Amino acid sequence: MNFETVIGLEIHAELKSKTKIFCSCSTKFGAEPNANTCPICTGVPGTLPVLNEEVVNLAIKAGTALGCTINKYNKMDRKNYFYPDLPKNYQTSQFDLPICSGGLVEFEHEGKQVKVRLNRIHIEEDAGKLVHVEGEPISLVDYNRVGVPLAEIVTEPDLRSVSEAVAFMKKLKSILEYGEISDCRMEQGSLRCDANISLRPVGQKEFGLRVELKNINSFRELQKALEKEERRQRELYTYGEGHKVVQETRRWDAAKGKTIPMRSKEEADDYRYVVEPDLPPIIIYDEQIETITKSLPEMPDEKKERFLTAYELTEKEVDILIGDKGLATFFEKVVKLGVMPKAACNWILGDILRILNDRKIESEDMTLEAENFARLLKVVEEGKISNNVGREVLDEIFDENKDPMKMIEEKGLMQISSSDELEKIVDEVIANNPQSVEDFKAGKTQSAGFLMGQVMKLSKGKANPKVAKELVDKKLSEI
Ligand SMILES: [Zn+2]
Repeated sequence: MNFETVIGLEIHAELKSKTKIFCSCSTKFGAEPNANTCPICTGVPGTLPVLNEEVVNLAIKAGTALGCTINKYNKMDRKNYFYPDLPKNYQTSQFDLPICSGGLVEFEHEGKQVKVRLNRIHIEEDAGKLVHVEGEPISLVDYNRVGVPLAEIVTEPDLRSVSEAVAFMKKLKSILEYGEISDCRMEQGSLRCDANISLRPVGQKEFGLRVELKNINSFRELQKALEKEERRQRELYTYGEGHKVVQETRRWDAAKGKTIPMRSKEEADDYRYVVEPDLPPIIIYDEQIETITKSLPEMPDEKKERFLTAYELTEKEVDILIGDKGLATFFEKVVKLGVMPKAACNWILGDILRILNDRKIESEDMTLEAENFARLLKVVEEGKISNNVGREVLDEIFDENKDPMKMIEEKGLMQISSSDELEKIVDEVIANNPQSVEDFKAGKTQSAGFLMGQVMKLSKGKANPKVAKELVDKKLSEI
């Protein structure tokens, strides 16, 4: 029997606010454990939350960028559950009246236009982090993340394959990044998702029982976890064990590469949602929505259109550049400094990406500035250094944003283009290789190539190949 895969995603994106959702503690990642805490976010009795307006504005921005309806009257609710990383024993979230409803994300995937409807976006506070100490019977808790504002974006079950789900996440990430709504640092957990996956026989209308996979925080893990779960369900259905597919939550164990049951799926009732009595309803005004809509920067689809028209690049090249906001911004800076777009693109998609991958650095964290990179590309373009030497220089200047000109001068890497200087080298090579000259005269034209190689060797790779070749040809014809 053939099965169709049905996937829906719940994405948690940390909103790019400097302070937490209900207090003025910093949201900065990487602080000392529990440094970014106060009586409000740690739930000390007697404290009162104050809603951060910036969080509301960022959620409206997300809603605007994703085509949602902004609910001008919405409210916060308490979602009750006990867990050590949640000091209040409830999470302040939104239940039946979220800040945004509906919405649509469109993208092209494998030659087909995919439309994914959104169900809602709501705002809530993040929980803390438990640290299970290796080899010790203790767990520690870091409350820095408690109260960091989150937008939970919930899709309808509109995705029909694992690769479609991954492509959707990439598209959503780029919208949130370009909109300056979230910094989407998946490796720091500021963008993560839960995935619901079920299978049904092709042609069947009703959905199969779905399994929820929790807390996936990279595209690779999303793909692996979904593929694994898809295969598990397909095999159970295929071999008459379909009753073993139950509605449950499973944890993706990245190290073991498999999904492990966590709990049977809880229903809304289990959380005993109640209206948050400490916060008034959230009222949003038309002018507020209008101002935010106008403030939305250039989004990925618009940028793609502009890149395709402005620069002579292929669609594939543009897609890779746009897919990484840091790279796209860097590319435009370099081009503005007078480098040919095609050359800038080739170097960025080739060498810059290679170095970023080798050193496991995100493009936004790159220290090399466009000015120094552009300077290097211009010297290559002018033929003063070869492509290979340029590549070596790039490796040298990349980490500390060094001036390429200084490096080229200090190491004497400039290509020798002056005929006088090259002539001396060519003469020396010819004098040292009489046999090759004889061979050439006897009709073995490949000897000229050997002599060229010797010229490059003697000049330590710095001879301008074009000028050198002309000289070698000229000298040989004169003998
Ligand atoms: Zn606080």
